[in-house]
Amino acid sequence: MNEILKLSRSTVEKYLSCPRCCVLDKKYKIKPPSLPFTLNIAVDNLCKNEFDYYRKIQKPHPLFIEYGIDAVPFKHKDIELWRSNFQGIRYKSIEHNYDFGGAVDDVWQKKNGDLIIVDVKATSRNNFDWSETFNKYDYAKAYKRQLEMYQWLFKKNGFQVAKEAYLLYFNGKKNEELFNNQLNFEVHLIKLDCSTSWVENKIIDTVNLLRSDVFPKPSLNCEYCNYLKKRWQLSIT
Ligand code: SF4
Repeated sequence: MNEILKLSRSTVEKYLSCPRCCVLDKKYKIKPPSLPFTLNIAVDNLCKNEFDYYRKIQKPHPLFIEYGIDAVPFKHKDIELWRSNFQGIRYKSIEHNYDFGGAVDDVWQKKNGDLIIVDVKATSRNNFDWSETFNKYDYAKAYKRQLEMYQWLFKKNGFQVAKEAYLLYFNGKKNEELFNNQLNFEVHLIKLDCSTSWVENKIIDTVNLLRSDVFPKPSLNCEYCNYLKKRWQLSIT
């Protein structure tokens, strides 16, 4: 029997965007370079503190009222665990021998008990247009899949989950007249109609790939691999 395979939602996302990267990361511990998203982390933390205030008093956050969402931040003994990057919410499959998990940013609860899964994002753009972003960029589609994987995890843990999930976007305004050591944000709450029907199969596909000897080909339009190929072609020592 194979050892239980521990994987996160980002492993499955890597499998979907480039299976080779997924193998490099999980089997060989080789990751593409990335920059730390310090602004994102700061926004996540501030946001967490604010929602925790409304969680404590079990009242809707003012944004819920503005957007007509009949819910309150979900109060549960495991909320800290679900938000922790080292643990998150997890599901273990005995049949396929994997342990899959992901860390959510927040969970809200509707009047009928359904849970709404939320992820917080920070950006800085002149004209924020989610529909255009979603149609144009793969990363926006990955954000939706991220929420769907979290929804699946909550369902597998026995919770009733709403079909809709939200991205809470903070857009830093960069054209203010004066800085005054203050970065102002406009807030966009984006409702996404989600489906978890694909999730389980893709987790199993990822597990099967990682347990096989297959080393997939690089994706043709990846800027990292193309950079390396060009660099090797030049053969500079
Ligand atoms: S193509 Fe890109 S994503 Fe795939 S292995 Fe290369 S660096 Fe990773």
